[in-house]
Amino acid sequence: MNLEGLIREREYDKPVNCSKCGGKLKYLGVGEYECTECGNKELDDYGKVRNFLEEHPGANVLQTEKGTGVSKAVINDLIVDGKLEISSKARFLRGDGEE
Ligand SMILES: [Zn+2]
Repeated sequence: MNLEGLIREREYDKPVNCSKCGGKLKYLGVGEYECTECGNKELDDYGKVRNFLEEHPGANVLQTEKGTGVSKAVINDLIVDGKLEISSKARFLRGDGEE
C-alpha cells in the first residue's frame, strides 16, 4: 500500500491563487475562497459540488460529475469523509455507475 498515493487521493483541488489577478486567496469555509486583492470568489472541488447540489437537489454522482467537472472518485471521497450532507444519500450513491 502506497501511503503517499493515499494522501494525494484525499487532497481536493484547492485553489491557491486568484484566477483573475493572481492574488492570495483567503479560505471562507464550505469550499469557498475569496481573493484578498480583488474580492473574486473561487471554489474548490468541495465548493463546486456543494453549490451544484444546492442548485440541483437529487442529482446523482454522474450528473454532479458532468455539472461540476469534479471526478466521481473525488465526489465519493467527499461523501465518505462526511463533507457532503445529502438528504437522499442512498439515492445519490445508487446513481453512481449508471450510464
Ligand atoms: Zn483576485
